[in-house]
Amino acid sequence: ELDATGVDVRFGATRALDSVDLHVDAGRILALVGPSGSGKSTFLRAVAGFVTPDAGTLRVGDRVLVGDGIMVPPERRGLGMVFQHHAVWPHMSVAENVAYPLRRARWNRTDREARVAEVLETVELGDLADRAPDTLSGGQRQRVALARALVARPAVLLLDEALSALDEPLRASLRLMLRRLAAEYELTMVHVTHDRDEALAIGDQVAVLNRGRLVQVGSPAELDSSPNSEFVARFLHDAT
Ligand code: ATP
Ligand code: MG
Repeated sequence: ELDATGVDVRFGATRALDSVDLHVDAGRILALVGPSGSGKSTFLRAVAGFVTPDAGTLRVGDRVLVGDGIMVPPERRGLGMVFQHHAVWPHMSVAENVAYPLRRARWNRTDREARVAEVLETVELGDLADRAPDTLSGGQRQRVALARALVARPAVLLLDEALSALDEPLRASLRLMLRRLAAEYELTMVHVTHDRDEALAIGDQVAVLNRGRLVQVGSPAELDSSPNSEFVARFLHDAT
């Protein structure tokens, strides 16, 4: 469960986020959409701890990450992140890439190997554990990045255009995989995308941002049938 209340982020004169309230139930997927520069990545970066909000509160379950004078550092937030350009390290095998967060958290070798094997099975990469990343397809590399984000059992997974570089059949299969993970592991996700069809297909809820402000939040059906503004109607009906 993720809760954002009154989150403000300013960069000089730019209000990247303006009093943003968002709630995502445990095991649910929020699709976050909006034009370029509307604040989508800034929201994920604030949740992850790479950007400090000027005001507001961020919580995961009962745990305050930001607010009340608290500012939990990124490495202690227990979140997973995946970006568009998968930062998979070329000099490490698939298994070594996925094991890296556990190494940093000082898991012992036996536990590490067991957990890495398990998470590689989850993302259907069990056969490729010893491969070098540059021998993989884009979709396989993106699943390595996903496995690495999941390996330490995060409560919340943040995805920033994580599927955007892939072709549609692959995106569709990864969307299914993400929905299965959310349901099976009660994993809460915020999935940022430019793509309206993807947002409507993956989100339990869809949130639309414009210039740092939340314009509308609702189920895909609600947004599709009752957009609350010209902006939302255009955004959802024009091809993006
Ligand atoms: P895109 O779809 O292009 O990725 P976005 O919705 O992710 O856009 P953000 O990256 O969150 O948009 O940016 C929101 C606003 O904040 C933009 O006006 C951007 O120029 C500004 N901004 C973001 N990061 C910084 C920064 N580190 N310093 C200054 N301004 C920033
Ligand atoms: Mg962005």
